[in-house]
Amino acid sequence: MKRVAVVGGGIAGLSAAYYLEKAKRNGAPVKWTLFEKSDRLGGVIRTEHRDGFVLEAGPDSFLTIKPDASQLSQELGIADQLIPSNDFQRKTYILVKGKLVQIPEGLEFMVPTRVLPMVTTRLFSFGTKLRMAAERFAKAGTQDKDESVADFVRRHFGQEMVDRVAEPLLAGVYGGNADRLSVRAVLPRFVEMEREHGSLVRATLQAHKTRIKSGTARPPLFTSMKQGMQQMVDALVAKLPASSLLLQQTVSLLRSNDTWHLSSDASASGFDAVLLAVPAPAAAGLVWQTQPQLSAMLGKIQYTSSVAVLLAYDKAGLPPGFGFLVPGAEGRKMLACTFVHKKFSDRVPDGAVLLRCFFSSSRVPDLLSFSDEALQELARKELKEILGLNEQPRFARTFRWDVAMPQYEVGHLERVAQMESMLAGLPGLHMTGNSFYGIGVPDCIKSARQAVDRIVGSSS
Ligand SMILES: Cc1cc2nc3c(=O)[nH]c(=O)nc-3n(C[C@H](O)[C@H](O)[C@H](O)COP(=O)(O)OP(=O)(O)OC[C@H]3O[C@@H](n4cnc5c(N)ncnc54)[C@H](O)[C@@H]3O)c2cc1C
Repeated sequence: MKRVAVVGGGIAGLSAAYYLEKAKRNGAPVKWTLFEKSDRLGGVIRTEHRDGFVLEAGPDSFLTIKPDASQLSQELGIADQLIPSNDFQRKTYILVKGKLVQIPEGLEFMVPTRVLPMVTTRLFSFGTKLRMAAERFAKAGTQDKDESVADFVRRHFGQEMVDRVAEPLLAGVYGGNADRLSVRAVLPRFVEMEREHGSLVRATLQAHKTRIKSGTARPPLFTSMKQGMQQMVDALVAKLPASSLLLQQTVSLLRSNDTWHLSSDASASGFDAVLLAVPAPAAAGLVWQTQPQLSAMLGKIQYTSSVAVLLAYDKAGLPPGFGFLVPGAEGRKMLACTFVHKKFSDRVPDGAVLLRCFFSSSRVPDLLSFSDEALQELARKELKEILGLNEQPRFARTFRWDVAMPQYEVGHLERVAQMESMLAGLPGLHMTGNSFYGIGVPDCIKSARQAVDRIVGSSS
């Protein structure tokens, strides 16, 4: 019987526990226990309900194109709870010189696919429009080295596309900086497109043609759960034996005689395999006694902290669409604001409005020293200046996530490969979670499943 310890009860750790339990029920000789530091499961996934409003503290959805979260929901029997984003009313704005300018239709992330909206948009200068037109003729080939997202986008479309589109979009997802994020880790699909086609425009248009020919409908951009993302956590927990899920555990880890010795508040036990599903700084702390080199590598993964301020209104006049992004050059503290009531149905009582404002320590280094009241004041002040919103919210709720967003900086994939080769020399030690193979919820589920396959499939 292989004894497995899962450390960390976010979506990665819980998914790993689920796949271990599934393997066990299918006859694999495994026995597992999950150790979570805090008093709840789900990590940054957390939904609250108040007065008919659905308040997401962390992720509000996942990218539909990545199948692992939907597939897991199917297995958990909650596929009927999946809801699509209301793409028919998807419009996103960028703040440019204090005014909201709509991202033109046909701009797919940073790739223009339609001529007229690009010609008429106020988002780009004439020079950038020319660059976009010329990009179509770029030759195939790729950089032999990793580079920043900013460098990659600049090579294709120029600096304005970095400042007005790539930087604010990535800041909204990673709470990070396009000058430092690795294009290979963050936008692998675009690197692949460049390698095959040279031009990202040609590659995207080609993909459109293939999709149309195959008759495949375009899926909704985002998927969420009817009652919020917490439903996925609750469904996972419901499938797992409660006695194997240990909360409020302070864990330490040592290795001797081919066994991992894990001490926690509950017990001290030996395990054949340990799966670390905690943020990299926590993993670094857990392995520093047994593997100082690996610990040092883990410590190199930088993190930012995030804050989401949710403001609920009985009514408010807003432009149509899903929300807006704020480029750093605008000199504001807010990174993005989602019009939650538009993005998904049934998130608010009839006629009400829910705004989710997103802040990151990448833009406000002392973010977490602000009180909740100060953060709410800040959100309201910037909303008033940007949207002219004067209404008094019915209530506000602030969620803080300290050291929550890993930054896949240039060279990230090489560092992960180095860590993997260190792990290869440490039988039974495995890692999953958002520090390595993608920060999206589906990425975390996928990497947990793959780690379990390795654990169940290997002799150690
Ligand atoms: C504000 C915000 C918005 C986001 N929005 C989206 C989105 O819309 N879509 C999307 O796909 N992704 C989004 N993400 C990213 C995604 O939610 C996360 O990357 C993912 O949920 C992380 O899961 P995880 O299990 O790897 O880590 P976590 O959720 O961080 O869980 C790690 C767990 O480990 C525990 N832990 C830490 N140290 C120890 C220790 N020493 N011992 C035991 N336990 C420990 C923690 O308490 C925690 O429960 C968002 C993230 C944030 C913060």
